[in-house]
Amino acid sequence: MSNDIAFLAEFADGTPQRSALELAAGAAQLAAQSGGAAVALAYGAGAAGGAANVGAQRAVVLGDEDRPAVTYAAAAAEAARDALVLLAPATPNGRDIAAVVMGRLNVPAFGPVSEVDLDGQTLTAKQATLQGSVITASQPVDGAATPSVVLVLANTFTPAEGNADTADVSQAPAVADDPLGTAKVVESHAEEQAAVNLEEATVIVAGGRGVGGAEGFETLQELASALGGAVGASRAAADAGWVPYQLQIGQTGKVVKPSLYLGVGISGAIQHRVGMQTAEHVVAINKDPDAPIGEFADLFVVADLFSVVPKLTEEIKRRKGV
Ligand SMILES: Cc1cc2nc3c(=O)[nH]c(=O)nc-3n(C[C@H](O)[C@H](O)[C@H](O)COP(=O)(O)OP(=O)(O)OC[C@H]3O[C@@H](n4cnc5c(N)ncnc54)[C@H](O)[C@@H]3O)c2cc1C
Repeated sequence: MSNDIAFLAEFADGTPQRSALELAAGAAQLAAQSGGAAVALAYGAGAAGGAANVGAQRAVVLGDEDRPAVTYAAAAAEAARDALVLLAPATPNGRDIAAVVMGRLNVPAFGPVSEVDLDGQTLTAKQATLQGSVITASQPVDGAATPSVVLVLANTFTPAEGNADTADVSQAPAVADDPLGTAKVVESHAEEQAAVNLEEATVIVAGGRGVGGAEGFETLQELASALGGAVGASRAAADAGWVPYQLQIGQTGKVVKPSLYLGVGISGAIQHRVGMQTAEHVVAINKDPDAPIGEFADLFVVADLFSVVPKLTEEIKRRKGV
């Protein structure tokens, strides 16, 4: 076993996905603690061309085609066999590969985590438990096999900038006994997408039950557009059918890390909070002075959203000269 920290680096059209750059940053931090190297396990269309720049010291190209992620899992297991930790993104593809690695190497798995730390070779993984009301810290039992597989939530690490061709790149050898290796994409459908990706947005205007309906969300969209941001929602708003589930933030939705999160008509339940608590600045507009969101907002505006939001939008547009 080495002290290396391996991470999954998914590519599409020659570009590393945001999860790859986030995990590159995480692997670099952990490698500094373990005294090993950050090693990218790159896969997906264009991975061979971009693997050197993803922000790792070494890169192993698992494959370079647009194939189901699970077809790369056996090669990922072999490439990670000597590592101390394997970081995988808590995405459908990351979960597929992590599960195969865990089974193939008979190693422990953790997550989805929002914090991961190493003290020498001792791993501590922290995750929300009991519907987000408790954060638990877990460690592998003494003598557990390595690598520890850690599923990491989006936005746990700030994405790495990448590096200029400094990684030492090698090609993973073919794996003979791979029952999943022949899976093929038969058909694909584009998911209905919001115009701005919530997980990457720097400004989010999130609406809750207080917004009262789909029409109210149009008012929020105007504010979000004026701020150059995206609209998000609480589960209550998504459950009511006012917005698609892709906009839901929280324990069973997206985890976001904007520089500004503006919560409008949202009470601030713990299951919502775990999805936005790492926002740099939290502003809340709520007519109830005792709403829980007031306890963690940097600025808490106690008012009716329907009187505040249109005026705010107007003022922002005026100041921007639009
Ligand atoms: C297992 C589990 C998982 C969950 N996962 C999630 C999740 O991922 N994300 C999530 O968000 N929730 C989740 N929930 C639900 C969560 O517990 C809350 O029920 C939900 O977040 C409440 O949404 P809300 O704040 O929009 O609604 P409410 O709690 O009803 O709050 C509405 C707020 O709007 C305010 N308001 C009303 N009218 C106005 C007005 N005119 N002007 C200003 N303010 C007004 C009210 O004062 C109130 O504070 C989950 C629950 C469970 C059990």
